[in-house]
Amino acid sequence: MIIVKVGGSAGIDYDAVCADLATRWKAGERLVLVHGGSGETNRIAEALGHPPRFVTSPSGYTSRFTDRETLEIFEMVYCGKMNKGIVERLQRLGINAVGLSGLDGRIFEGRHKDSVRAVENGKVKVLRGDHTGTVEKVNTGLIELLLGAGYLPVLTPPAASYEGVAINVDGDRAAAALAVALKADALLLLSNVPGLLRAYPDESSLIREIPAGNVEDYLEFAQDRMKKKVLGAAEAVQGGVRRVIFGDARAGQPVTAALEGAGTVVS
Ligand code: ADP
Repeated sequence: MIIVKVGGSAGIDYDAVCADLATRWKAGERLVLVHGGSGETNRIAEALGHPPRFVTSPSGYTSRFTDRETLEIFEMVYCGKMNKGIVERLQRLGINAVGLSGLDGRIFEGRHKDSVRAVENGKVKVLRGDHTGTVEKVNTGLIELLLGAGYLPVLTPPAASYEGVAINVDGDRAAAALAVALKADALLLLSNVPGLLRAYPDESSLIREIPAGNVEDYLEFAQDRMKKKVLGAAEAVQGGVRRVIFGDARAGQPVTAALEGAGTVVS
């Protein structure tokens, strides 16, 4: 079993990812796809007159401040346009894909964090009304049911809070939790970079290997959103996933290339 997470940044070639996945699925590989949608969400939020607001925590993590309206735009894009676009591509390739959010069947569950500490103009502020959280529990029943019946699950945030409220969660860390819960052999985190770069954005500074025990030492190389991927990788290997690969989803056969060791391999 492999878990493939494909990001939502500009430059990602979803046709290439889906074609590669379809070939592997037809050859009998069991897999689940998780996707993002940040780039498109930002564009549509701007167009709807509710531009995104990113906040940085005192420890340096960047996240989207998700008020109710932002959550609804987020759902429109992630669960609607992005999810159905991927499912359609897979259906055209003859794969019976089923698109679901973490809210459906409570696949991804976690605690709702209503407030966030953010650094603004050098001061730490507490912002309330945030609909975010972290996946703490993966309910695999529905996924197993689908896989057992021959469907390829295509999953996306949001998750369900313990009270049943939709919460925006990080897709990389959700995919990591899923990989642990499904005892996956590998987790692929595919984005619009060759892997983790020692000197971002210099693509020749690709870090090829990270020992599983030292993942957190590599957090210093990751800026902004890349930090969540490194954190997700650490959580996955600590949870028993043998290999996590940061790979390139911009062209070629992104899944096969990553499994063959292109990109940054954490093991
Ligand atoms: P996605 O939405 O595709 O999952 P993100 O945009 O969340 O991806 O994170 C990937 C981005 O992180 C890259 O496009 C790049 O701009 C940025 N980044 C920051 N630091 C690094 C680094 N050290 N190596 C590679 N990418 C980095």
